[in-house]
Amino acid sequence: MTFSLLSAATHGSATPAWAMLAYLVAGVFFILALRGLSSPASSRAGNRNGMVGMAIAVGTTLVMHGTNLVEIGIAIAIGAVLGVTIARRIAMTAMPELVAGFHSLVGLAAVVVGLAAWLNPAAFGITDAAGQIIAVSRVELGLGIAIGAITFSGSVIAFLKLSGRMSGSPILLPGRHVINLGTLVAILALIGAYTLSGAGGAGEGQLVIWIAVLAFAIGFLLIIPIGGADMPVVVSMLNSYSGWAAAAMGFTLGNTAMIITGALVGSSGAILSYIMCRAMNRSFISVIAGGFGADAGAGGAGGAREQRPYKQGSAEDAAYMLEQAEKVIIIPGYGMAVAQAQHALREMADKLKEKGVEVKYAIHPVAGRMPGHMNVLLAEASVPYDEVFELEDINSEFAQCDVAFIIGANDVVNPAAKTDKSSPIYGMPVFDVDKAKQVFFIKRSMGGVGYAGVDNDVFYMNQTVMLLADAKKMVEDIVKALD
Ligand code: NDP
Repeated sequence: MTFSLLSAATHGSATPAWAMLAYLVAGVFFILALRGLSSPASSRAGNRNGMVGMAIAVGTTLVMHGTNLVEIGIAIAIGAVLGVTIARRIAMTAMPELVAGFHSLVGLAAVVVGLAAWLNPAAFGITDAAGQIIAVSRVELGLGIAIGAITFSGSVIAFLKLSGRMSGSPILLPGRHVINLGTLVAILALIGAYTLSGAGGAGEGQLVIWIAVLAFAIGFLLIIPIGGADMPVVVSMLNSYSGWAAAAMGFTLGNTAMIITGALVGSSGAILSYIMCRAMNRSFISVIAGGFGADAGAGGAGGAREQRPYKQGSAEDAAYMLEQAEKVIIIPGYGMAVAQAQHALREMADKLKEKGVEVKYAIHPVAGRMPGHMNVLLAEASVPYDEVFELEDINSEFAQCDVAFIIGANDVVNPAAKTDKSSPIYGMPVFDVDKAKQVFFIKRSMGGVGYAGVDNDVFYMNQTVMLLADAKKMVEDIVKALD
């Protein structure tokens, strides 16, 4: 059913039956890939299925349109060299901005394909007998350009924020909701006008250019007010937009595989955004509407912090307390990724388990800088999956644990999220580490702050001992002391 609907929905040159079948097989592999990626245990198989699906889709397209193979080969070679170089060089901590950068390219590609189809519609097979672009293609073209442009400029802003080239704090323009809503309505009106105008000519060109310009502007306007605890949702939301942009390109190019793939990426990204919003106690509509509900007072970053007394300890102190404990809960965060401390951490946990200590890992949905960041690092260090728990499954256990061992996490344990309405992380659920008998907190200095840029009362609690050092070095020293 879906198959025939999709084939009916695409137009341009007729796709042969064998190619439709191959695209369907590729689609099944993509669905299996998503299924596999839903659990760390099956994620490698998921990745493999995704690669097989993509090879089938690209191979089919190349065989079907067997022209210009030299040019396409050169383009693929250039892309492959760039991709391999970036993949080898990129640090794990820079993955989120890389992903945002890649999303921006998908958006730009959708805009360029849309403009190419508008400039040379006959080559895309979207004209009627009079040589005019048919109405349905005008809708697809307008939507494709609009979604692509929003994805492009939104992803560029996300890239700048995630890479620290632009402040992560929300930038709140006065009257932004009215501006955003007005711009969106204008884009839809322009697409409508473009669809109904049928004669071609300069006026039509103006409409297409304005759709692109306003969509670039709205992408920018939607992302600048978002900061602090909402950035993770934006990353997955832009992932979803890039999928819809690819699907729109699929319609313009009459390519079923792109429609299927784009729809899968678009809908899975939307579902992930929704799940993250629920985990973060945020309204989905508020976030996608561009920081609705963000409070002008909730800037957070920077600002003078008062000097308060805190306790500092050594690796030996930590080792002593850890081996005396019955139950230890480890909370990893972004700093563990920066220090690449996951292998040393697993070694420490193994030593504690040998001594009869129960060890569990607590993962916050937004720990690190991308969804699943901590799960990937712990899996890389072969931490058993059954020792890793989600926030809602483990939060009640802090009251019964002897040691909460915080390694490079900060915002995800900050009680200001529960108590301080002016905090940029207010409302986000956090780990109840204050209920643990003893807290060890690894970070490099008292001066550093988490992503949201706010002070953390956990540093100053009676039961907290600060372990101020690079996370990897500190954990290696604890392992030595445990020996
Ligand atoms: P945070 O960014 O809040 O804190 C990181 C901590 O690690 C800091 O205390 C820092 O202190 C410490 N640190 C940094 N480097 C090292 C090192 N080498 N050794 C030891 N400590 C180190 O991390 P969390 O994981 O708690 O929170 C994630 C934050 O990122 C949330 O606010 C979330 O909203 C945001 N975010 C998450 C995304 C996601 O998808 N997961 C995407 C975008 C943003 P110091 O500098 O003193 O060492």
